[in-house]
Amino acid sequence: MLRIECPWCGERDETEFRYRGDASFSRPAADAGIEAFTAYVYTRENLRGWHIEWWLHVGGCRKLLKIVRHTVTHEIHAVGSAQDLLSAPQDPPGR
Ligand SMILES: [Zn+2]
Repeated sequence: MLRIECPWCGERDETEFRYRGDASFSRPAADAGIEAFTAYVYTRENLRGWHIEWWLHVGGCRKLLKIVRHTVTHEIHAVGSAQDLLSAPQDPPGR
């Protein structure tokens, strides 16, 4: 079970949150074409390691958060608001 530190509500249980997807993608420009939008909506890598994600605090403040989480260990490196520019750390060798 994850414990997530919401910037507005404090540390809360994972069950109060809903995963909302990969936060490392940017929406293409309106004139980018169907291939760019198809890739934006459907193409995802199943990464092993640090991942920047959207989470919605549905059982609390109902704000959208960015979380840097390791997909194997579920360790949380950083939590921020939707506007924060978070970066994922480099995995140590052998992890
Ligand atoms: Zn909250």
